Amino acid sequence: MKYRDNNKPMRSHIEQKKRIIIKIGSALLVDAGYQLNETWLNALAYDVASLKEKGIEVIIVSSGSVALGRQILRCTNRKCTLAEKQAAASIGQIQLANAYKRIFYDYKMNVAQVLLSIDDSETRHRYINAQNTLQTLLKFNVVPIINENDTVATTEISYGDNDRLAARVAQMVEADLLILLSDIDGLYSANPHFEKTAKFIPIVDKIDADIRSMAGQSHTKISSGGMITKIMAAEIATKNGCDMILCRGNIQNPIAHLLKQERYTLFKAQPLTQNAKKRWLAHHLQHQGQIVVDAGTVEALLLGNSLLAAGVTACDGMFKKGDIVNICDQNRQVIAVGMVNFSQETLDKIKGKTRQQIEMYLNNKNVKAVVHRNDMVVV
Ligand code: GLU
Repeated sequence: MKYRDNNKPMRSHIEQKKRIIIKIGSALLVDAGYQLNETWLNALAYDVASLKEKGIEVIIVSSGSVALGRQILRCTNRKCTLAEKQAAASIGQIQLANAYKRIFYDYKMNVAQVLLSIDDSETRHRYINAQNTLQTLLKFNVVPIINENDTVATTEISYGDNDRLAARVAQMVEADLLILLSDIDGLYSANPHFEKTAKFIPIVDKIDADIRSMAGQSHTKISSGGMITKIMAAEIATKNGCDMILCRGNIQNPIAHLLKQERYTLFKAQPLTQNAKKRWLAHHLQHQGQIVVDAGTVEALLLGNSLLAAGVTACDGMFKKGDIVNICDQNRQVIAVGMVNFSQETLDKIKGKTRQQIEMYLNNKNVKAVVHRNDMVVV
């Protein structure tokens, strides 16, 4: 198991960072009566201002819009329908943005609202576009306040949790630290709410099956993530060279507490082995379909070759040219992820065919690989 339990992370670990993403869960910002916790936000603004004084750039990923909007829709004691949730988000988001603007301005910070849909991080050109916007805001010393665009997100096309959204943002802006402020002080070997013997884990050197097995479901009424999405976020962040800290946020001045070396779990950044595009592909959250390949092709892909139609035995999903798909072996085990050069409809017709047959069929002498090796990553 790749974790240590005897080595406290150091204060300098945080203060030496250049760009930090702070993710704030709904349960911290919104109280049990579904009102904004202004005192807490005020203390956080103080913490952020202190980080910025040290020359650290800060981006905030803030939840809370749905929880804040529920009161007006009178759905605090029951489950909201999807339409109500989307309406609640639009009501709550404006309150949230207002509060951030007012409170951060008291500490002489300008903020900007950025609402992202899953397509903004999972479609390459939109990802680059969002990246440019965030870089520009940082250049002008503005604190971006990001949330999912819940008003248009449906369950099928959403991140659903801001943990993975925050990790994708950390990857997008090449942050060196992601802090998840939560209602728990870090990772435990089991859910400490149910198991008295659960052991606290201060440092995770590498995320493996043991670490993944420690995750449980969310246990609060207000927030939507759980330890599972936090571990997923840690995988995205750490594999993109970004440390991740999971710590308690339900205290005043949580960042100041972190600097005093209060308890937290540090997931350590991994060395970068792939270029930015391949890392973006590897952590893709929205695959449009899958391509099944034969055993010989699996070997060829593992050796770094492009995927040719001759090795494809089946394809599922309604993907089009340029979409991101999983590439699976005959047991439907995912072995690679890549950007496909044909629609599912065309691929279905050319699968198993040789290059010459495809050239004749498509009446084209410049037939591309199904997935070029530069657009593919073995997972
Ligand atoms: N985007 C949601 C909101 O603002 C929250 C998602 C989450 O809790 O992670 O209410």
